[in-house]
Amino acid sequence: MSTSAAAANSTAPTLAIPRTLRGQKALVTGANSGIGRAVAIALGEAGADVMVNYVTGDEAAEEVVAAIRAYGVNASAYKADVSSEEQVAGMFRETIARFGTLDILVNNAGLQRDSSFQAMTLAQWHTVLNVNLTGQFLCAQQAIREFLRRGVVPEVSCAAGKIICMSSVHQEIPWAGHANYATSKGGIKLLMESMAQEMAPHRIRINAIAPGAIRTPINTSAWSTPEAYKSLMTLVPYGRIGEPEDIARAAVWLASDLSDYVVGTTLFVDGGMTLYPGFATGG
Ligand code: NAD
Repeated sequence: MSTSAAAANSTAPTLAIPRTLRGQKALVTGANSGIGRAVAIALGEAGADVMVNYVTGDEAAEEVVAAIRAYGVNASAYKADVSSEEQVAGMFRETIARFGTLDILVNNAGLQRDSSFQAMTLAQWHTVLNVNLTGQFLCAQQAIREFLRRGVVPEVSCAAGKIICMSSVHQEIPWAGHANYATSKGGIKLLMESMAQEMAPHRIRINAIAPGAIRTPINTSAWSTPEAYKSLMTLVPYGRIGEPEDIARAAVWLASDLSDYVVGTTLFVDGGMTLYPGFATGG
């Protein structure tokens, strides 16, 4: 289902995004699908120039670039595997050469390789940790070096840079059959908080978003049939699935000066999934 078709079936609001990021330069990893795609387009709508990272799917990446440029800002696509130190370094060199600097990193790329614990291969474990956790470390390190080099430019933002780490409700909720994924998200929590503590004195703000169930290709089996959707809703007090745009609006806010003083926080955007819905009727 396309994002627009998905949104048409939802009670999620469609809201215009204010141009709070005018003149800022952003890089979004894993931006040719799902949440990353919506975040990249929303940052463009908010006035930022955006580098669209992806690892496969040239056409989908170019489609995102075109959607961003429609807002009158610059956008380009860059193919790189976030788990490769060399490719990540090349991507940041190219982004800074093209845009002049970087103000916002959205560390979004992620994947699942699900398995029962007893059958999980070392390759499944490594793939998920390498992309979801090491990928965020490598990209954050490159972004922070540029933020430190440049410092605050008050006309652009009162912070020297902003990083948003895409985590998950599974940084809190254990997930049987997905030990590698839950471990990667638990790791992101303390990676984000440690980086935020270390970088705050430099006016670099680092935060995370923990999405609940969002309608994207990563979890199609959880929402694509009426039975699956009904079962999913037993976990979501708010009574609807999340749309990628729900996350995108939160990302724009966390990237903007409207959230200045928000440092080292995880913003749960989950329709109440972390409110222990099983206890709603007394447990
Ligand atoms: P998705 O599969 O639609 O998108 C994942 C993106 O990551 C794709 O663009 C993919 O190409 C990219 N990617 C994968 N491996 C990569 C690599 N090695 N290098 C660069 N890019 C790579 O899934 P999504 O739901 O949009 O997921 C985005 C993020 O949101 C992930 O970190 C995921 O864990 C997180 N998340 C999603 C949900 C949800 O319900 N959809 C919930 C919580 C967290």
